Amino acid sequence: MTPHPDRAREAAIHILCRLREAGHTAFLAGGCVRDELLGLTPKDYDIATDATPHMVRSYFPRTQEVGAAFGVVLVHVDSCTIEVATFRSDGPYSDRRRPDAVIFSDARSDALRRDFTINALFLDPLAESPEARVIDYVHGVDDLRARVVRAVGNPHARLAEDHLRALRAVRLSARLGFELEDATAEAIRLHARELAGVSRERIGDELRRMLTHPSRAVAAWTLQYLGLDAPALNDRANLNAPVRLGRIGDDTRYATALAAWLFDRTGGEIGTGESAETISRWRQSLCLTNEETTLFRGIVTDWRTLRREWWNLGVARQKRLSVRKEFLEALRILGTTEPEEFVRIRRRVEELRATPSGLAPAALVSGDDLVQWGYLPSPGFKVVLESVYDAQLEDRVRTAAEAAAFVQELASNPGVGLVRQKGH
Ligand code: ATP
Ligand code: MG
Repeated sequence: MTPHPDRAREAAIHILCRLREAGHTAFLAGGCVRDELLGLTPKDYDIATDATPHMVRSYFPRTQEVGAAFGVVLVHVDSCTIEVATFRSDGPYSDRRRPDAVIFSDARSDALRRDFTINALFLDPLAESPEARVIDYVHGVDDLRARVVRAVGNPHARLAEDHLRALRAVRLSARLGFELEDATAEAIRLHARELAGVSRERIGDELRRMLTHPSRAVAAWTLQYLGLDAPALNDRANLNAPVRLGRIGDDTRYATALAAWLFDRTGGEIGTGESAETISRWRQSLCLTNEETTLFRGIVTDWRTLRREWWNLGVARQKRLSVRKEFLEALRILGTTEPEEFVRIRRRVEELRATPSGLAPAALVSGDDLVQWGYLPSPGFKVVLESVYDAQLEDRVRTAAEAAAFVQELASNPGVGLVRQKGH
C-alpha cells in the first residue's frame, strides 16, 4: 500500500533534517517539487544531497542500495520509502539508456543533468523565507508559470543523450496540460525516428503510463503530430484524430485504450488478418503482458462482431457474447462514436437479460452427467454440452428432465459421436 502523501512528506523532511544536522546540503528534488509548486499531490518524494551514498547509509538504520554507482539510496522511514540521490553530473550515454559514469558534484550540475526545466527545481521546505524555498538554476519557475515543458540546455544534445526524453516530454505535457516549448518540440520531431534505438521496455512503460491517464488522447495526438507514433508502435505514421480515445472515459484499462486508439487510426474498419498482425506488432513494440494482449485481441474480435454481425446473431450467440468483458469494452468504445447504436445494443442486451433463462444461467448438464448416464468421454461431449446450453439460453430447454431428454435425442444421431459404455 502506498503511504499517505502527508506521511511521505514528513518522512522526507525527517531525512532532510538529519542530513542537515550532519552538515550536508539537502533538498527535495525533481517531480515532487514540480507537483508541490503546482498544488498537486506528488506521487513520491525524492531528495538530492551532497552526502555520498556511503554517508547516507551511515545516517539511517534502514536503507537499501539501488544504484550506488548512480548515487541512489532508498531510505525507509516508518512505512515510507524515500529516494536519496547524491548530486551528480552524468557522463556520456553510450548505450542511450544510462550514463556510462556519473560524477558526484553540486546542486547546480545536478539540475543541469535533468531533462526538463520544470523537473530541475530544488525545494527547501525548511527555509525561513519564501524566496529561499525554491532553488532554481534553469528558470524552471518561469516555465512552471508559463506552463511549458522545455529541455534543460540544448534540446538536440539532450535528446541525443537519451531519446526516451521525447516520450517523457509528451507524457509530462499531456498530463499537466502544458505546452511543449517550440525548440524542444522541433528537436523531438527532428529526432523522432531515433526513438527506435531505445529499449522496448522503457518505451512500453511510457506508453502504458500515457494511455492509462485521463489525458490519453492529448498524449496520443502529440505522439502522432511529432512523428513519435511510428517508432513507438513500429507501425505506419498516422494523423487521424484520436476521437474514441478522447471520449472513452477517465477510468479505462490499457487494453481498451489501445483498442480505441487502433480504431481511431483505422477509422474503425479493420480486417481479421490486418488486426492480428497489428496486435502482435504492438505487443512486441510495447512489451505488452499476456493479459493485456489477450484482452486487446478479444476487444478487437468482439468489436468486429458487434459492428458486422450482431443483429444477425441468434439469441444464444448474442447472450454468450454479451457477458464477455471484451464485448463490454468493445461496446463502450462503440458508444463513443455511435451513441444510437450503443443504446440499441444495450436495449437488446436488457431484453435478453429479461428472458426466463437470463444471460448466463448455470448449465443444466455437465460432462460428469454424461459420464453418469453411461457415455464414454469423447470430443462429442463438447458438441453436446454446447448444444444443450444453447437450447437452455434460447429457453427451448428449461428443466433438468428436458435437458436429459434433449441429450438422448442428440445421442441417437450417430453424427454427434456420443458412444455408450458397454452395460448401459
Ligand atoms: P513522475 O510523477 O512521473 O514520477 P517525475 O518527474 O518524478 O515524474 P521520475 O521518472 O520519477 O519522474 O524522475 C525523477 C526526476 O529525475 C525527474 O523529475 C527528472 O528531474 C529526473 N529524470 C528522470 N528521468 C530522466 C531522464 N531520462 N533524463 C534526465 N533526467 C531525468
Ligand atoms: Mg517520480
